Amino acid sequence: MMVGIMKMKYLDHGFKIIIETFNMIAKSYIIGVVEDIDLHSITLKNKEGFLIKIEVTSENFVFSDYFIRPKKFSKLSVSKLDIIKIEKRGGVKILFKHGSNDNLLFVTDQCNSSCLMCSQPPKNVDDIEYFYKINNEILSLIPKDIEVIGISGGEPTLLGEKLNLILKRLKLEFPNTRVHILSNGRKFFDKNYVSRLSLDINKLATFGIPLYSDIATIHDYVVQAKNAFYQTAIGLHNAARFGLNIEIRIVITKLNYERLPKLAKYIFMNYPFVEHVAFMGVEYTGFAVVNSELIKVNPDVYMDQLKEAVLFLNSMKINTSIYNLPLCLVHRKLWPFSVKSISDWKQEYSNDCKLCEEVNICGGFFRTSRLKYNNINPILEKKYNE
Ligand code: SF4
Repeated sequence: MMVGIMKMKYLDHGFKIIIETFNMIAKSYIIGVVEDIDLHSITLKNKEGFLIKIEVTSENFVFSDYFIRPKKFSKLSVSKLDIIKIEKRGGVKILFKHGSNDNLLFVTDQCNSSCLMCSQPPKNVDDIEYFYKINNEILSLIPKDIEVIGISGGEPTLLGEKLNLILKRLKLEFPNTRVHILSNGRKFFDKNYVSRLSLDINKLATFGIPLYSDIATIHDYVVQAKNAFYQTAIGLHNAARFGLNIEIRIVITKLNYERLPKLAKYIFMNYPFVEHVAFMGVEYTGFAVVNSELIKVNPDVYMDQLKEAVLFLNSMKINTSIYNLPLCLVHRKLWPFSVKSISDWKQEYSNDCKLCEEVNICGGFFRTSRLKYNNINPILEKKYNE
């Protein structure tokens, strides 16, 4: 087995790190902004302002997102001003993609729900401190004028006080940045918690909270947690009471599609204060693959129910969108609600899409999905504005 060696030499204003093998074991990770990059070296500036040059001497190595799988993720390739993390085993992760609106602070793999279609199944690991440190480094390095940043996990409210600290930092240092936090909202059942959180929140922050049914037992089954519906339902009111902006997220599955129109009415009657409702297609990865028998339903099966739900909410002046569905699978009346929502690094089109007249406004589908649509149908006549 090759033994990894990491050598550090001082340059004029920083270090030089030479990685001599793929198996090199760094003492710890390094996070920095990419100042310069070529095939065999990269220069990072860390939060203290030191320049760190990393050279890889292996002949086989081509600098890419992952040392061990060069080229495979070429679409993701590192560019200048990205923030990256060089990990213990030599892996490289992009933590912040310069110029992208899909950047997020990943705060934990832990979750108190276990949704049947979760694309990133929760892990029972003690990782909050680890990610908290990393996210603070990211916040020290990213431009203060970024338009938007997400916070996601796992379940962010499991961070306790640390979520307040992150939000407070965003509020103070990034006053004009929109912050989008994905949470199951169950913790909002505790109004004292919401009251405290509201003090640390930027006015531009929004919580994206899932509600999968107007029937408690269906919602609880989907999220695999008893009383989750009750907690979230009360939580939504507590959130409104303390001035938090709320988006309701509905992932469409076999378990809930028939009641989408009823769910839309329930939302209008009970949560007219929400600023946005998003109906979402499934990303078939993680638990969604394991549970595909239970949850999988094709968009053509639920399109009537989706149309009724979206048009109803729209008629009630509730801002409504459809995420994660290819345009050719969406009813034409719903095209104005369809959003290119899939992160650029996960987005994919098929060969057929080359023929499609609406490729520019279609968000495609998930490259990461293990179950693909088999009825992608290029739009041959531009119809969007008709
Ligand atoms: S054919 Fe491709 S680009 Fe066109 S709408 Fe369908 S998925 Fe989108």
